[in-house]
Amino acid sequence: MLARYFDNAASTPVDPLAFAEMEPFLRDECGNAHSAHSFGMRAEAAVELARARVGELLGAESSEEIHFCSGSTEANNWVISAFQGGCVSPIEHASVLESAMRNGYTVLPYAKPAEGDYKLVCIMRVNNETGALYGGPGAREHDFWNVTGPRLEDLTQAAGKLPVDLAHEDIAFATLSAHKLYGPKGVGALYVKGGKRLKPLIVGGGQEHGFRSGTLNVPGIVGMGAAAAIAAERREADFAHAAELKAVFLGELESVSDWQCNGVATSPFICSLSFAGIVGESIVVELDSRGFAVSSTSACSSKSGHGSRVLSAMGVDPCLVAGSIRVSFGRRNTAEATRELGGALRETVENLRKLRK
Ligand code: PMP
Repeated sequence: MLARYFDNAASTPVDPLAFAEMEPFLRDECGNAHSAHSFGMRAEAAVELARARVGELLGAESSEEIHFCSGSTEANNWVISAFQGGCVSPIEHASVLESAMRNGYTVLPYAKPAEGDYKLVCIMRVNNETGALYGGPGAREHDFWNVTGPRLEDLTQAAGKLPVDLAHEDIAFATLSAHKLYGPKGVGALYVKGGKRLKPLIVGGGQEHGFRSGTLNVPGIVGMGAAAAIAAERREADFAHAAELKAVFLGELESVSDWQCNGVATSPFICSLSFAGIVGESIVVELDSRGFAVSSTSACSSKSGHGSRVLSAMGVDPCLVAGSIRVSFGRRNTAEATRELGGALRETVENLRKLRK
């Protein structure tokens, strides 16, 4: 079934080994990681192992730079709300953009050079809708933002997929969610370079060294740590697998007319396609009826009823924006299912276009 699930940028299935590590903490190992007894100490030890594993995946200098929370949305809000006078790229995830606008940040233009010194610079590494690369080593989608200031990089679509080496990168803050890398939903982490203090977003019992209050989600954190360790081991193989699938998929579309692939320098895990003369949601529904899961834009905005704000910001023609879908590859997809998806998409596009004539 999962071979035909091509919405891995929205969420991934929990890795069976990560699930196995979580299970005891969902059953008998019920200790609160802050309790002084043995149950609490075992929970705390498991949390610290997870912290070290996430730190290792990100190439952090020390596990003390990792703070667990509920995921990227919280982590992005947390950093952004701690600063004033920041700037943000226009293609950020809503959890960055909305929070930045609430806090009076400058939204940088997409196609014009931008300069300036800001208190915080928010530019994501991999865009969740197009897979376009805006940070990290190697080629970038565009280099117009010559802005300076401490940087927040949303690594949600990069962690465990592309090389990340935060000890040697000039990044002050980074955010990620476990469920994008085969861990459970509702858990994630904030990386703070040098383990510096950051104004808490959530106050209370002072957990996470006073940074983030609330009883620790021990099973979730254990699952995230295990998923991070697995992702670190498999990263190159996963990358090669995604690159192969993307090539197979695009090869199946060669005979289709009037469409484009969005983004130039992109991650192999995400493919954004726009078809002229049809509506993206119709493609999604038709493919779903054939057993394939893809999305029209990001899962977070696909129910808003508006076309992709990211593609619009990138200057994609509005008619093409309306006919866009996102296909995102993962470990459980096979070359055979990918070929079938390409064939089904080809037929769907032809049929939908015929209906409009
Ligand atoms: N940033 C990016 C780039 C994402 O893709 C997502 C999830 N779609 C988020 C942030 C938010 O993650 P979560 O919903 O797990 O908080």
